[in-house]
Parts: sequence; C-alpha cells; structure tokens
Amino acid sequence: MKKNLKSFFLFFIFLVSCTNKKTVSRADFIIGTICSIKIPASKNADAILEKCFAELKRLDKILSANDENSELSKLNTSAFLNPVKVSPELLELVAFSKMVSKETDGAFELAIGSLVKLWGIGFENERVPHESEIKELLPFCKSENIKIIDEEIFLETANSKIDLGAVGKGYAADRMVEILKSENVESAIINLGGNIYVLGKKFFTNENWKIGLRNPSGAPTDSALVLQVSNTSVVTSGTYERCFEQNGVHYHHILDPKTGYPVKNNLVSVSVICENSTYADALSTAFLVLGYEKSLDFLKKNYSKKISVVFMFKDGTYKTTNEQLIAEDKMMPAH
Ligand code: FAD
Ligand code: MG
Repeated sequence: MKKNLKSFFLFFIFLVSCTNKKTVSRADFIIGTICSIKIPASKNADAILEKCFAELKRLDKILSANDENSELSKLNTSAFLNPVKVSPELLELVAFSKMVSKETDGAFELAIGSLVKLWGIGFENERVPHESEIKELLPFCKSENIKIIDEEIFLETANSKIDLGAVGKGYAADRMVEILKSENVESAIINLGGNIYVLGKKFFTNENWKIGLRNPSGAPTDSALVLQVSNTSVVTSGTYERCFEQNGVHYHHILDPKTGYPVKNNLVSVSVICENSTYADALSTAFLVLGYEKSLDFLKKNYSKKISVVFMFKDGTYKTTNEQLIAEDKMMPAH
C-alpha cells in the first residue's frame, strides 16, 4: 500500500473509532485496508468486536498475497515442486475461487498472481510491464494449473500463482457475519475497505440500511446512488480504486486475464448485492471484466442465485437489475 494512502486511512481510523450509548464500533487497518464493524452496545460488545478483529488478523496471515510470511505466499513459492497441505480456510477459498473461475469462463481468475505482481498496481513498484513480459506469463495464469488433491494444493507451473485479492475481503466479511450471528448479534454493519455487509435491519428500527455507492468521478465520500438493503452484502469493484496514469493512459488493478492488461470497456464500476459476500466480491470483479452484456447472460443462467447488480458506466450513467434497491439517485439511468 502506498504510504500516503495508509496515513489517510490511519487518520480515518482515529476519526471513526468511537462508542456511543447505543452502538459500539471499532476500526483497524488490516488486509491492506480499513476494516470497521459497528454493533449494538451490550456488556459483551467489546469482547465480540475483539473476537472479530482477532479473526480478521488471523485470516490476513492466511490469505494475503502481500505478506511473504502468509500461508498463501508460502504456498505460492513451494507448491510447484510438491503438493502442500493447507488450512481449511485456504482450501475452502481456493476451491471456491476455482469454481468461480470456471463458471465465469476465466473472467475471474484464481491463478492471476504472477500478473498482479508484475504490474504491482497500488504498490511502490507499480509500472507498465513490457508486452513480452505479459505474454510470457499469460499462459500460466489459468486456474486449471491449480490442482486440489484432498487437503493439498499443487501448482502445475512455478508461474501459476494464486491471488485472492478479489475474494479475500468478501470471505472475511462472511466470517464476521458467522461470528456475530453465533454471538446473537442481530444487527451490524461491517465495512472491510468498501466491501460492506449489513446484518439484519438498521439499528433499533425495522428499516432497511441505506448504503451509498461512490460517485466514480467524485471524492471517495461522494455517493452517486443510495441503495436500501438489509441482511446482505454490497461489494463494488471500480477502475478508480487502485490506479495510476502514464503518458495519459489510465492503468487500474482489475486485469483482463485474456490479455494480461487492465480491463478496457465502458464500465467504471460494478456493485454486486447478494447474501454471500465471498460470491459478491468474486462476481463484482468478474462482471467488470465480462462487461455489461456478458454479465447479464451470466445472471440469466444463474437467476436462482438471487444476485442484484448495479453497473456504472464511463459516460456517467448507470443500469441496475433491481430498481427496488435504489433509494436515491444522483446519476442518470442509462437507456
Ligand atoms: P477487487 O475487484 O475485489 O479485486 C481486485 C484485485 O484482485 C486486484 O488488486 C488483484 O489482486 C486481483 N485481480 C485483478 N484482476 C483479477 C481477475 N481478473 N480475477 C481475479 N483477481 C483479480 N493491499 C495492500 O496494499 N497491502 C496489503 O498488505 C494487503 N493485504 C491484503 C490481504 C488480504 C487477505 C486481501 C484479501 C487483500 C489485501 N490487500 C492489500 C488488497 C489487495 O492487494 C487488493 O488490491 C484488494 O483486495 C483489491 O480489492 P478491490 O475490492 O479494490 O477490488
Ligand atoms: Mg472482488
């Protein structure tokens, strides 16, 4: 994470860590972003939040591709020569990601790790690689090269590296929901770097939560649309999130696994609204790669999965598959 961004987040943590009479919240910088959870005040509330944040830190140590001592990083360097036995969490998320890679025809790509590292977008070493470097790595970045044998994972080539950046925050959000439910917390808002889960109804009411979707051309706090939702996850992938410009060209962190370059289409962000945050996270990335029409085809084939989507386009318009979610609208619907 670039230093200036980290300082901004740390300042932000200072501002948002608070307790009032009715709710208790906590925020910390984990999984490369600011994570916050707010729950109703109770005598156990602090202990529950402590449990949640301990779990976030534990998951970071397993799933991070940015920490060379994480379980995933060790797997990426050692599982080419020999299959490696992994933790249940890593096994579950790799198996799930392999399934999504297949069903999205590789738009979401579990084995994209080498290309992500080559570009380094969002990190100090970000750069536009030479075309030959991309071409060299592209054939290895395929989920078929990641084999799961019982509780072991095997990488078929040294360059087939796993990256869970597009699903890890969703997985962590689902785990937070499990913990909160097991502690009988009925309403909560979990925000893991913009990957949001709203549990139950808004605190002490029977109303839906109002969740703002960022205006892609505005400041991070400027909402273009406000959604009304309950008991669901809202996950957005945007081309403005981690990016840099070189010679007037905008390079962002969501790569098209077919070309090895940042995705180029008319979308600027995709928000997926569904109960399973891991799936919402994976699909928001996949839909951004697939583009609007192919994403609709996917949704038609998978209509039983109860997924709603908001697509924002570069021309400042939007389309949604579920009008009922929109509570406020500051941008034009596309026709
Ligand atoms: P999403 O669209 O959800 O995901 C984009 C990310 O997924 C990319 O950054 C890349 O990693 C990967 N990706 C790109 N294209 C594809 C594709 N087609 N298919 C599948 N995956 C793709 N960031 C830091 O700066 N420092 C950290 O220490 C750090 N630690 C992290 C630890 C964990 C456990 C996780 C889950 C993330 C961490 N991150 C960290 C953030 C990470 O590097 C990603 O940039 C971030 O998850 C992007 O999330 P997003 O919601 O913006 O975009
Ligand atoms: Mg994602």
